[in-house]
Amino acid sequence: MSDIRTIGILGGGQLGRMLALAAARLGLRCHIFEPGATPPAGDVAHALTTADYDDETALRAFAQSVDVITYEFENIPTSTLDQLEQLRPIHPNREALRISQDRLTEKAFLQDLGLSTAPYAAVDEAASLAAAIADIGTPAILKTRRFGYDGKGQMRLASADDAAAALAALAGAPAILEGLVDFNAEISVIAARSPTGEVACYDPGVNHHSDGILRTTSVPAPIPAMLRTDAVLLASRILNALDYVGVLGVELFVTDAGLVVNEIAPRVHNSGHWTQNGCAVDQFEQHIRAIAGWPLGDGSRHSDVTMQNLIGDDMDQVPALARQADSALHLYGKAETRPGRKMGHVNIVKPRAT
Ligand code: AMP
Repeated sequence: MSDIRTIGILGGGQLGRMLALAAARLGLRCHIFEPGATPPAGDVAHALTTADYDDETALRAFAQSVDVITYEFENIPTSTLDQLEQLRPIHPNREALRISQDRLTEKAFLQDLGLSTAPYAAVDEAASLAAAIADIGTPAILKTRRFGYDGKGQMRLASADDAAAALAALAGAPAILEGLVDFNAEISVIAARSPTGEVACYDPGVNHHSDGILRTTSVPAPIPAMLRTDAVLLASRILNALDYVGVLGVELFVTDAGLVVNEIAPRVHNSGHWTQNGCAVDQFEQHIRAIAGWPLGDGSRHSDVTMQNLIGDDMDQVPALARQADSALHLYGKAETRPGRKMGHVNIVKPRAT
């Protein structure tokens, strides 16, 4: 099928764990590189390297032990990638990472593709924030350009009076001001592209967040068929523009004027976990297939699914969920439960209605 036998994964969290499980089902091995102790992916992988991302000796040995390298988070240091790419192919490619690591670059890239985004402006200090507010208006959201996730590194501005406090909260980090999008729903599309340019997309799911963290994703999303098609076409356009290999998550706002792209993630995505019990080939296997040069699954959905994240004390529900015949549990094996920590998820599965 392909010469690839061993896959290197940067990052040992739950996404790495589920990638390693999917790879194992295809008879492939994974080697996890992760600085933290006892990573969730380490339990299920063939090999684990515990070292920092600037440990050149460990990086070299890791790269030499694998056939291809991927990652489960986008904030990998540039120097790490510079070293690794001398030794083995990295998928998705550097360009996809460069664009998705920086909200400003990402927005410009999306607009260049003719896609809609929130109005935005770069913010570095008080003067550029004042100019951005004058341009975009309020309400608005000030976000760090880099290293934001799960709603972290974001401040809402109800009016220009909030500017100083919002800027102070970001502690001088380069930022972007975004106009608040008046959306009816948040959806996401998980899409994949193979090295030969084959593209497969999953059905868009509708997402519900609270406290900036994804709580549930449901498929099918209750949106018109036309918008579902738009979402899939738009994701394909992004994949092709990036000459992308692997799985990409695209988060979208559904507005009265159509779809607005919020952000892209160059990896498997929390809002794609429903595919584990809704599709023959889930997003994790799809990513492994893409980077290993296998044919892609077609992405078709056989069931209706609601994915519910199990965060912190939600783990108390596990005994009851384990008794529910329609519920598939996916727990990440994290030793310590903490508020706000993603501990697992459950996919509640129903026969496909439409
Ligand atoms: P993000 O980290 O950019 O995905 O933002 C986290 C959440 O904040 C999103 O899922 C939205 O619910 C909300 N949000 C972010 N940006 C905007 C925006 N420009 N307009 C409206 N809501 C937003």
